[in-house]
Amino acid sequence: MATIDEQQPLHILFLPFLVPGHLIPIADMAALFAARGVRCTILTTPVNAAVVRPAVERANEDALRGDAGGILVPMDIAVVPFPDVGLPPGVENGAALTSEDDVRRFFHAIRRLREPFDRFMAEHRPDAVVSDGFFTWSADAAAAHGVPRLVFLGTSVFARLCNEIMVRHNPVGACPDDDPDAVVSLPGHPHRVELRRSQMADPKKLPIHWAFFQTMSAAYERSYGEVFNSFHELEPECVEHHRAALGRRAWLVGPVALASKDVAARGAAELSPDVDGCLRWLDTKPDGSVVYVSFGTMSSFSPAETRELARGLDLSGMNFAWVISGADEPEPEWTPEGFAELIPPRGDRGRTIRGWAPQVLVLNHPAVGVFVTHCGWNSTLEAVSAGVPMVTWPRYSDQFYNERHVVEVLGVGVGVGARDFGSNLESHHRVIGGEVIAGAIRRVTGDGEEGEAIRRKAAELAAKARAAPEKGGSSYDDVGRLMDELMARRTFR
Ligand code: UDP
Repeated sequence: MATIDEQQPLHILFLPFLVPGHLIPIADMAALFAARGVRCTILTTPVNAAVVRPAVERANEDALRGDAGGILVPMDIAVVPFPDVGLPPGVENGAALTSEDDVRRFFHAIRRLREPFDRFMAEHRPDAVVSDGFFTWSADAAAAHGVPRLVFLGTSVFARLCNEIMVRHNPVGACPDDDPDAVVSLPGHPHRVELRRSQMADPKKLPIHWAFFQTMSAAYERSYGEVFNSFHELEPECVEHHRAALGRRAWLVGPVALASKDVAARGAAELSPDVDGCLRWLDTKPDGSVVYVSFGTMSSFSPAETRELARGLDLSGMNFAWVISGADEPEPEWTPEGFAELIPPRGDRGRTIRGWAPQVLVLNHPAVGVFVTHCGWNSTLEAVSAGVPMVTWPRYSDQFYNERHVVEVLGVGVGVGARDFGSNLESHHRVIGGEVIAGAIRRVTGDGEEGEAIRRKAAELAAKARAAPEKGGSSYDDVGRLMDELMARRTFR
């Protein structure tokens, strides 16, 4: 006979890092577990709760309608105050930080979230915690409550291995200081990964960040395992290496955004008034004729870079939909001659989208033929799932690793030749000429052998991506495998 414990659904607490690129996939992932009958709670602060709420509401509506296979386990958000660390009211998200001092205060707040986390754990005793890797304290905190910690970092396994190699071997340290073009190899990676020194984080320049990465890596070691927004067929060698060489356990449950197209639309509708207009405009364009340009939520470009991008789009001869963040204004500084003729009210070859685009819907629109991207992992995987080839333009974080993965391993993109690693707050990026950008777009979209091969591979990969979360697919099975393990573990608590 089943005990009361066995009859209760599993309960997982999700603790996302407070930036959009981590909140969005965590919310999608939680919704995915909820659809399988897991009780999911997301612990976050008021401003960030607004980011995850559309996914939560959608999951609950699905459950009520019976789309979740008759399973009615509501998802919820545990909203806790953002700690007072001297940031202005409402500044609770990494995307809103404008100085190194803000970043320092923000990380102080991240540490202080341990208090409400401990309270939640003591009161609710969940079966597991899916914690963002940035909450390094959660390794000890979860252990103190006797609860397994599963780490999520929002990267691929490929990039996770690159990070680990950097922390363990510091190959940049062995490189001459004065040669930004020196080629650095990542030893022991299952793929040949080589980057220029200028494309990599420099431990000497960022000692505090470096120390933090080491703490993160150590916290991984003290965790039960890792969950990834990825799928086995995308990176089988990396999954095997992660298991065999690092001795880590992984569950690949993505692409999580595939389950959330409607949510993307709803979330976007709240942030941008012109979602329908954008999609209706795409409806008027021939298949594969539009370049979609977006650099995620954390990257901004200098006026000089933006100007060359505008020229590149013009020179490409393609239609374009270009998401421009507020930071890239004012326009007259970057608008090249003739560009105003291409966009409304004067022209119709392109659109600039201010604020938020319904990215998942845009990428899945047949009019979109290529994505110019900064290679944030969410954007990369969304493009892979939609079968849209990429023009890669990384800036920092794991983005240069993702570029290598996309261009050299998966063969579904072409780089613009970005050379400089640095966040908006850290560094200056060399300007890439419009001709080079247009050239990269043409290599992907052109009739030549290269473009055809890239597009064929992108279509093949998309079919695998779509199959993974379906019943019987590898990600579907990994979700089930993890649930079974956590349920079996409950017996021993
Ligand atoms: N996104 C979106 N509309 C926008 C900008 C971004 O829907 O106008 C979403 C995008 O689909 C992705 C996430 O925001 O899911 C950005 O994450 P990513 O890892 O690509 O980049 P980051 O913002 O973390 O650099």
